[in-house]
Amino acid sequence: MTGMVSYGRLRPALLVGLAAIIVAGAVFWGGERYFLGQLGARAANAVELHRENLNGWLGRFRALPSVFARHPQLLATLESPGDVEEAERAAALLENWTASTGAQQSYLVDRSGRVVAASDWTELDSTIGRTMIGRPHFREAMEGRLGRWFEVDQQTRSRGYHFAFPVRQGTTVAGAIVVIADVAGIEEELRLSPNEVFVADADGVVVLSGHPELRLTRIGGPARGLAQTPVSGLSDLAPPRGELVVGRPDRSDRTEQEFLHLTRSVATEGWTLHMLVPTAAAHAQAFLAVIVSGLVAAVVTLAGQLVVARRRLLIDRLVAREREGRLLEQKVATRTAALSAANDRLAQEVRERAAAEDELRQAQADLVQAGKLAVLGQMSTALSHEFNQPLTAIRSYAENADAFVEQGREDRARENLARIMRLTARMAQLSRRLSNFARKPAEGMEDVVLASVFEEALELMDARLARADVVPEVVGLTPELTVRAGAIRLQHVLMNLIGNALDATEGRVDAAIRIGVEPSESTVRITVEDNGPGVPEELRERIFDPFFTTKDVGRGVGLGLSISYNIVRDFNGRIEAEAVEGRGARLVVTLGRGAPARSALEAAE
Ligand code: ADP
Repeated sequence: MTGMVSYGRLRPALLVGLAAIIVAGAVFWGGERYFLGQLGARAANAVELHRENLNGWLGRFRALPSVFARHPQLLATLESPGDVEEAERAAALLENWTASTGAQQSYLVDRSGRVVAASDWTELDSTIGRTMIGRPHFREAMEGRLGRWFEVDQQTRSRGYHFAFPVRQGTTVAGAIVVIADVAGIEEELRLSPNEVFVADADGVVVLSGHPELRLTRIGGPARGLAQTPVSGLSDLAPPRGELVVGRPDRSDRTEQEFLHLTRSVATEGWTLHMLVPTAAAHAQAFLAVIVSGLVAAVVTLAGQLVVARRRLLIDRLVAREREGRLLEQKVATRTAALSAANDRLAQEVRERAAAEDELRQAQADLVQAGKLAVLGQMSTALSHEFNQPLTAIRSYAENADAFVEQGREDRARENLARIMRLTARMAQLSRRLSNFARKPAEGMEDVVLASVFEEALELMDARLARADVVPEVVGLTPELTVRAGAIRLQHVLMNLIGNALDATEGRVDAAIRIGVEPSESTVRITVEDNGPGVPEELRERIFDPFFTTKDVGRGVGLGLSISYNIVRDFNGRIEAEAVEGRGARLVVTLGRGAPARSALEAAE
């Protein structure tokens, strides 16, 4: 598996490397061809120049003997053999010519081939007296043509190019004039060439070279160092661009070098002009081209990669941003879902609460109703007692009055009738109170005169107060003081509070109830205090709960304060049990203060 992966990773790199090598090779090959071509073109010009030079040199010395041959002194010398004066004259002439034309030497040969006069006639080893019989140039001249002989002395390594021309006597040839061309001049020129230039004869022997050690060596032979030079390359084919050879043209060179080998034939002599141009520069240039193109390719590739990398980075960033966005959206979606779930739960709770509240309200309404019924029961008991007693009294007063009328005791009868009238007046008053109860308790609020509410409440509780022998002390009550309430309901609340105070002080000899009225600017505080056992602190809140009672079964149902609480709340007031120092309880009702009662004010005035 890993092997596959690494192979998969390696393959593109291998391919790229291979491609780079192929391209580099192609560039090198093409560059080499191009630069070698350039080199060849330049070399071709140079070699052509050398050939022209060589031809010029040869032509000059070729022409000289034919010009010299016309001089009459030469014929005169040939026609008078043994005449030393003639010979010396000719020799002086030759010496003069040789010096002025830059030739190496010149001499005059008679028909027998013996040198009769020479330019070096003054020197000890003068050519004079030597014989040229059998030498090719002499033979050719005797035949009436231009004779040529490239003389090579293998021992001294000296060379001389002999040009011979017949000296005629009419139509016959009397002798020959010979001019030896000076090789040193042309070889100096060859030596100065930046490239290796040399001339070889038809046998491949170097006849002219700037380097002395190369002279008279054979091309391709071990001495030349051009061992691998193909023979055809040295023929007269003279390819315009030459060919590549490997060798050491200079024997001082240790390493073999590659050269561009150009040849030009120097036709007349059967010679070949060779030029060897080192190709190292062209190779170096090709190599440079590879390096430069490699660098360019590298720069282009790097730039491309940079662009690709930047693009990829940009794309990566975009993708990351998109992913972040998606994550955020997901988060928002989940949060929203959680929120809406919580919302739903809340809504459900609110509904349940509302339902519970409705139930509670209903229960409280039912309780209020039940409380009212209970009050009604208490009241009817009280009323039946209140009415039965005067009714019984009226009945006996009426019977008494009837009896007194029969007895004629009118004054006593009238006295009884007056008592009946007082009793009926009291009953009428009672029934007036009862008609107040008949009013709807749920009526709206009004300014209720507090004094009259207290008066009626105490009147209704008269019997109970009398039984307990308690006279409530009322403090701070003024006739014009009004509160925002409903008269009947407030009366019910006060009766309930006074009833509870009576219950709390029941059985006490010193039982006392104190009622306080404390008006402020906007409220009126009504307190009902007793000297009973008081309300323990931990129960202070609970006594207003429905059905909370500490009284014996049959005596209390625990509804009084609960109903009172609801009534006072309907009046936008407060009811609470206050902590009292020492013994006793204090129930406080706080109500909104009403406008002062006019009738009471008027009465006061
Ligand atoms: P009930 O009178 O039927 O018990 P209430 O709601 O009127 O119902 O009273 C609730 C309870 O509050 C009473 O049982 C009693 O324990 C307590 N309470 C009310 N008024 C007083 C008071 N003046 N002193 C002591 N306890 C009181």
